[in-house]
Amino acid sequence: MSEPTGPQRAGDELLAGLLGPTAPELSCEECFEALDRYVELRVAAQSADARVPGMRAHLAGCPACAEEYRSLRDLLTADDGGSPAR
Ligand SMILES: [Zn+2]
Repeated sequence: MSEPTGPQRAGDELLAGLLGPTAPELSCEECFEALDRYVELRVAAQSADARVPGMRAHLAGCPACAEEYRSLRDLLTADDGGSPAR
């Protein structure tokens, strides 16, 4: 009647590729704890994404943490010359 092989199989493989190995997922709590460090690394143009894996993905999917990140970054970059206030 119908052929066993077809477009459906290819679709399965595509899906498996999408759901394959993923970056470690951060919870909001973990995100929050690492956010300070992450923002500092970003502002200092260090390899923030390599040191805090999963953070970028979490910020992309979590508006609350993304907003926290932005306000933290604004705080750091608003400093003139980046000299810490004493
Ligand atoms: Zn979050």
